[in-house]
Amino acid sequence: MSTVKRVYTFGNKQAEGNGKMRELLGGKGANLAEMNLVGIPVPPGFTITTEVCTEYYEKGRDAVVEMIRPEVEKAIKGIEKQTGMTFGSDTMPLLVSVRSGARASMPGMMDTILNLGLNDTAVKALAKRTGNDRFAWDSYRRFVQMYGDVVLGMKPQSKEDEDPFEVIIDEMKKERGVRLDTELSTDDLRELVVKFKAAVKERTGADFPTNPWEQLWGAIMAVFQSWMNERAILYRKLNNIPAEWGTAVNVQAMVFGNMGDRSATGVAFTRDAATGENIFNGEYLINAQGEDVVAGIRTPQQITLEGSRRWAAAQGVSEEERKAKYPSLEEAMPAAYKELFDIQEHLERYFTDMQDLEFTIQDGKLWMLQTRNGKRTGAAMLKIAMDMLAEGLIDEKTAVLRCEPAKLDELLHPVFDATAMKNAKVLTKGLPASPGAATGEVVFFAEDAAKWNRDGRKVILVRIETSPEDLSGMNAAEGILTARGGMTSHAAVVARGMGKCCVSGAGELIIDYKARTIRIGDTLIREGDWISLNGSTGEVYLGQVATKAAELNDDFTKLLGLAKKYSVMRVRANADTPGDARTAFSFGAEGIGLCRTEHMFFENTRIKAMREMILADDEAGRRVALAKLLPMQRGDFEALFEVMNGYPVTVRLLDPPLHEFVPQDEKGQREMAAEMNVSYDKIKARVDALHEVNPMLGHRGCRLGNTYPEITEMQARAIIEAAMNVEKRGIPVKVEIMVPLVGNHKELRYQRDIIEHVAEEVFAERNDKMEYMVGTMIEIPRAAVTADQIAEVADFFSFGTNDLTQMTLGFSRDDIGKFLPVYLDKGLIKADPFQTLDQNGVGQLVKTGVFKGRDVKPQLKCGICGEHGGDPASVEFCHFAGLNYVSCSPFRVPIAWLAAAHAALK
Ligand code: ADP
Ligand code: MG
Ligand code: MG
Repeated sequence: MSTVKRVYTFGNKQAEGNGKMRELLGGKGANLAEMNLVGIPVPPGFTITTEVCTEYYEKGRDAVVEMIRPEVEKAIKGIEKQTGMTFGSDTMPLLVSVRSGARASMPGMMDTILNLGLNDTAVKALAKRTGNDRFAWDSYRRFVQMYGDVVLGMKPQSKEDEDPFEVIIDEMKKERGVRLDTELSTDDLRELVVKFKAAVKERTGADFPTNPWEQLWGAIMAVFQSWMNERAILYRKLNNIPAEWGTAVNVQAMVFGNMGDRSATGVAFTRDAATGENIFNGEYLINAQGEDVVAGIRTPQQITLEGSRRWAAAQGVSEEERKAKYPSLEEAMPAAYKELFDIQEHLERYFTDMQDLEFTIQDGKLWMLQTRNGKRTGAAMLKIAMDMLAEGLIDEKTAVLRCEPAKLDELLHPVFDATAMKNAKVLTKGLPASPGAATGEVVFFAEDAAKWNRDGRKVILVRIETSPEDLSGMNAAEGILTARGGMTSHAAVVARGMGKCCVSGAGELIIDYKARTIRIGDTLIREGDWISLNGSTGEVYLGQVATKAAELNDDFTKLLGLAKKYSVMRVRANADTPGDARTAFSFGAEGIGLCRTEHMFFENTRIKAMREMILADDEAGRRVALAKLLPMQRGDFEALFEVMNGYPVTVRLLDPPLHEFVPQDEKGQREMAAEMNVSYDKIKARVDALHEVNPMLGHRGCRLGNTYPEITEMQARAIIEAAMNVEKRGIPVKVEIMVPLVGNHKELRYQRDIIEHVAEEVFAERNDKMEYMVGTMIEIPRAAVTADQIAEVADFFSFGTNDLTQMTLGFSRDDIGKFLPVYLDKGLIKADPFQTLDQNGVGQLVKTGVFKGRDVKPQLKCGICGEHGGDPASVEFCHFAGLNYVSCSPFRVPIAWLAAAHAALK
């Protein structure tokens, strides 16, 4: 005999399980047990463990039934004893519900069956016992319908199909000229049962099961089976719930909310799930059962008087009408309400979190059917955690851990007004590349975007894809929409950096730059038409959808302070301009981990000097152009250093291939020729010469500075002079000069010599000195592997995980769109490696780099500056890899802090 316990009973303030046994009993089962233990009225029942679900998929139905039969029969006996009713009895039939309940809550994802145990005899006994014919037949028809749908497979498989039972009900309501189920007569309900059964016979070829035991086994197995239904699989995928977990099954004595006007059913929250406000709230319906409240057929009523008044005010319902037609539970059933109120207080204090409750009132008596930690918005998450901390319900660490890093994002970007969004027409859907809400007029070209913006118009920049040349336009736009490119495309990365809403890779868009139109199916959108983007969902709407700005309140500041207090790692930002730096600073960044100097070269006069340098025939010519760039760069750096006020600033030397600074099309080249006063042919020849088959692996990074040392000289001078100027003004500066794309320590040695030489020159000129560091990005696999050699020459490492990912996986992040979705779908890869660090591959190189580097220099400062720096899972990895800091887009700084704190508290 096996000694494994597979069934756990509960009832009458006792339980074999408890609230800590979520893994075995599922969330619902564990909390039903716990509610019993704390003395809350719960109908008696039992839970079949999640392990049995796994066994079901291993051994099959029959084996499982045999295995659990003795325990189930015994548990049913227990319910019979407590209720005084008998399963299958002709006179006192026990009815039960069969409910699924996974470890992690999957609301509404799997199927529940109510009123099980009814048949033609039992329904009469139920009617007789309760003296309520209508109720008995209403329960019976619900049961046949649910059982038919869930167990006998009558439920429509696709959206187009209709539920055959609903069709029958609708026909009858039409015939009778009524709108609601509750308006049907008892005879109508009787007739429905007959018709339902006939439909079952017709569809399945078998009679509806009358034997309660047959019904029960069918229902239990259907719950196990529903673990693998499409809805459940999709939900698990979206929420990262492993399939191996399985679901438990709860069998529980029925209580009836549909027994008449002294009965009701409802759902409630101990605090507001949308705003977090500490106010008990919820909805209920009189004379109703199960999911009626959320089904939306009847208008549910508010539980509290205050909620009811608020509701009426919003709906324009008068106080008189409200009282007469939609009274609160507080008014309609004061005693039950009082008990419910006390219970919700008790449960919230017990679980020390906001609870989502389900209850039923049978003939004036309150029964609790479920409690769980309620789902909530980012705003509610923050407020509830900080309120509970202030109330002394939870401590600081718990408050930090209650706030999910990824959910903070919702709070940092402007948002659409919820009702406005509901009424908007969805044009298409792309990737939710950068969250937030944006609305504006469509433009196709960066210059237009900038110009329209100057004229005070709001624009959405729509491009097939973006390139660095579009930067000014992106900056001027409210949001960016692209037809191509993934979550880490240029548009996406830059938009996130700017904290700007972006939808990328909206493949249905047909963009015609010449005609200046977008076609989506049969909709044609012209330049100047309004559209709206939801960067959090990827949805694109026609027209203007109203938005509201995100507000960072005191709670937010408080949370950020706690996160900083508990995290071991520090957080910096990737910021290229003083504006970005200010944003980053206000979000709590303790330094700049990556300042990409090339972004300073794109503005009007600068791009001209840059192009002059590129066009120069020799070093002397390049030096002339670089001399023009020097004061501009120096000025930029001064501004950055001032903003960061003594926090470290890592400045990366020029990185992209030079062709990115010159126009690739003839029109642009002709314009450039005219502007620079040289022949078109010369420009074209130079652009052609710059052409590379694979620029990503071409002439870029330190390879530029090693072939044209004068570029490094100019940049080093600009950085050192700026730092000294700022220090002179009494503002402390910590500068870290970073050499990109080093694969071999000699490259770094060569660059370092140039930088040191320039620094000495400047020191001599000024007869002054300052501290500075020279380090490198580790972004080529060879650099990670030879980190010990590189560390001899470097003062710090910054892992550039964007390039490191590209080169380690051999995935070009600009071309990944073609195969990534398929790879994800087929499970060949778990997540987009450009969004979340590939810990087993790229992560190992990071660890190797840190280990080898610190072997040579134990105090070597190590950080990460790829997009991963703002991804919670990657941040956690960085913590455990021993990095000193992560650096991410300014808008992700708070998320990174919170993730770093979580990692430290785990
Ligand atoms: P879900 O996981 O979708 O919330 P539940 O198992 O909680 O499904 O069941 C849905 C609803 O069915 C409950 O909210 C409750 O109203 C009703 N219900 C479940 N079991 C019973 C019962 N024993 N007595 C009365 N109503 C029940
Ligand atoms: Mg369910
Ligand atoms: Mg429920």
